[in-house]
Amino acid sequence: MSTIRFKAIKKTFERKPLAIESTAKRSEMFGNNVFNEMVMRQVMSKEAFNSVISAIEGGERIDRKLADEIAAAMKNWAISKGATHYTHWFQPLTGATAEKHDAFFEPISNSHAVEKFGGDQLVQQEPDASSFPHGGIRNTFEARGYTAWDPTSPAFVYGTTLCIPTVFVSYTGEALDNKAPLLRALQAIDQAATEVARYFDKSVTKVNATLGWEQEYFLIDKALAYSRPDIVLAGRTLLGHSPAKGQQLDDHYFGSIPDRVLSFMRDLENDCVKLGIPVKTRHNEVAPNQFELAPLFEEANLAVDHNSLLMDLMDKTADKHNFKVLFHEKPFSGINGSGKHNNWSLATNNGTNLLSPGSTPTKNLQFLTFFINTIKAVHDYEELVRASVASATNDHRLGANEAPPAIVSVFIGSQLTKVLDELEDVSKGKLSPQEKTDLKLNVVGKIPEILLDNTDRNRTSSFAFTGNKFELRAVGSKSNCAKPMTVLNTIVAKQLKEFKKEVDSLIDKKNLKKDEAIFNVLREYIKASKKIRFEGDGYSEAWEKEALKRGLSNNKTTPQALKVSVSKKTLDLYEEMGVMNATEIKARHEIELEEYVHKVQIEGRVLGDIARNHVIPTAIRYQNALIENVKGLKEVFGSEFKKLAPEQLDLIEEISNHISEINSKVRFMTEERKKANKLEKAQLKAEAYCQKVLPHFEAIRYHCDKLELLVDDNIWPLTKYRELLFTR
Ligand code: ADP
Ligand code: MG
Repeated sequence: MSTIRFKAIKKTFERKPLAIESTAKRSEMFGNNVFNEMVMRQVMSKEAFNSVISAIEGGERIDRKLADEIAAAMKNWAISKGATHYTHWFQPLTGATAEKHDAFFEPISNSHAVEKFGGDQLVQQEPDASSFPHGGIRNTFEARGYTAWDPTSPAFVYGTTLCIPTVFVSYTGEALDNKAPLLRALQAIDQAATEVARYFDKSVTKVNATLGWEQEYFLIDKALAYSRPDIVLAGRTLLGHSPAKGQQLDDHYFGSIPDRVLSFMRDLENDCVKLGIPVKTRHNEVAPNQFELAPLFEEANLAVDHNSLLMDLMDKTADKHNFKVLFHEKPFSGINGSGKHNNWSLATNNGTNLLSPGSTPTKNLQFLTFFINTIKAVHDYEELVRASVASATNDHRLGANEAPPAIVSVFIGSQLTKVLDELEDVSKGKLSPQEKTDLKLNVVGKIPEILLDNTDRNRTSSFAFTGNKFELRAVGSKSNCAKPMTVLNTIVAKQLKEFKKEVDSLIDKKNLKKDEAIFNVLREYIKASKKIRFEGDGYSEAWEKEALKRGLSNNKTTPQALKVSVSKKTLDLYEEMGVMNATEIKARHEIELEEYVHKVQIEGRVLGDIARNHVIPTAIRYQNALIENVKGLKEVFGSEFKKLAPEQLDLIEEISNHISEINSKVRFMTEERKKANKLEKAQLKAEAYCQKVLPHFEAIRYHCDKLELLVDDNIWPLTKYRELLFTR
């Protein structure tokens, strides 16, 4: 009997939901562990408080003396919440979060100690970060990097540690993390969108990008997950035959949540609420053991931090409940994968959602302006949007008949399509009084009404307008949202800047009224960006062909998709918008390619190991049992034995065939890996892994999965799909 597998199953059967003590009301717990505005007002002087607020709102520097006061207030508050340590919390390019804890405690003599935390420690730290990916930046320049406080994301107490959100940059100022470029992109969109919003409302002084992510994940019993080397090392199953029952009955989606899972969710949500993550919805997803969690939307930088924090919290809480969370985009073949939809919009300091149609023609022209500019931006930089969600793991999900394809397209619904069609016919130059009235009454004036019944939301689109926001559906469940958010906000910022220039020029040089100028520019954008709009079935083959005809990119693999991130057009874009310089961009590209290689390399090694050391020996064991059986029959029945053992004889042969196929394919794969490893250039190496190594996985898996069906269940060493997916 295969011990680990059966022990794990037994353990799983014995599990009981953990009791979650009923705590205070969520509204009372909300933000209890966050050093937010309300707390700051209470624990620091007006001067210090105001300086933090102007740092948050206007990016102003905080005076060193005030920093000391803020640090002292933060420390006392954190200690009152049970903190003993503090850390600069940051998001290196590994995609995870990083922290190095320092104690507040500091001995000042043999018999005396104090709790110390000053402005210096708050504002800047120098972690020994030489092992974080830097794509050569810290080799070429200065060896060190430092973390710097990001006051726009509030500090929080997590366990017994005060966590201070920070950016991570090299001494020469290059970003070494995901947050620094995001903050710069958010600054760019603030500037560009504010200027455009002021065409419609002079009181606008700031525009924030908003993000509401939806996190999908699988929850597998810990013992079962740890019984599979592929899940442990690669985060996904590299083999395993699909079970008789998968998701075809659709009986999991929105079904009742299993008790143990519910207990995990309640525990997790309590912690989220205390940390200020406004979790709102939870439900089962389509696949068995797949779930989703979504918060209310927030300012994008905060939302990104909250998503990173959530993923960490999920890992820890799951462990406590004897589960393992799988964030991988495709942990099981033949079953839906996981994504992280990014709902995105723009909000003014007055609380206006710029992508929400309003009650007056002016508000609607404002809506159309931001709406059409976003479409134009995605049209111009579709390939960069695709690159922003590229990873070895997401490659398995995009285009897998359940998730958007690798083609980026925009869905807006039939009603808004009609509006854009009408705007396309607006006259060039000055508009007649009749045309103006007509536009006001019949086109722009009607938007709120038509949106109400705009219910045909297309689930197959990668970038869909959903009433008052756009939803980027191609983001992987494992990704840090900072990457797609950096790209989206940068390209829209660039587009809005362009728009402002064009409108102003029509007003100044052609003497058009503001509205006329806006209509004129929008008309041209609608025409120019048509090919990105698609209302049909994004999962269909017909769309792939159509997209090709339209000249849209369809980069199915990461090495292909990432190429555009270092194109001249991209370098110019980032440079112009002040988001990243060439060094930063190239370093990132290198890191992403390396990460791709490492991921596929690890999977190849794990698969080779499982196939050779787990599957083949088991198959031989079973084959030997069959041979013994046939020998016995021969002994008893003599030459008649063949008539009595046709199945056994076939099986013996079949098993041998599969074994030899596995052996030769593992050998080919290993050869290809060796060749790929010799390549120097990151791009070529990644391509070799993608085109030469990866394709062997399927073939090896095929024969292993066949053996799973043939070999005695009692000795099969790997926990099977039905056990992973249906035991809880
Ligand atoms: P779905 O039907 O795709 O599951 P919903 O329409 O329920 O999604 O999605 C709601 C998501 O959109 C939530 O995560 C919410 O926070 C987010 N959202 C709503 N309004 C905005 C907005 N103005 N900006 C950003 N995100 C938003
Ligand atoms: Mg969604």
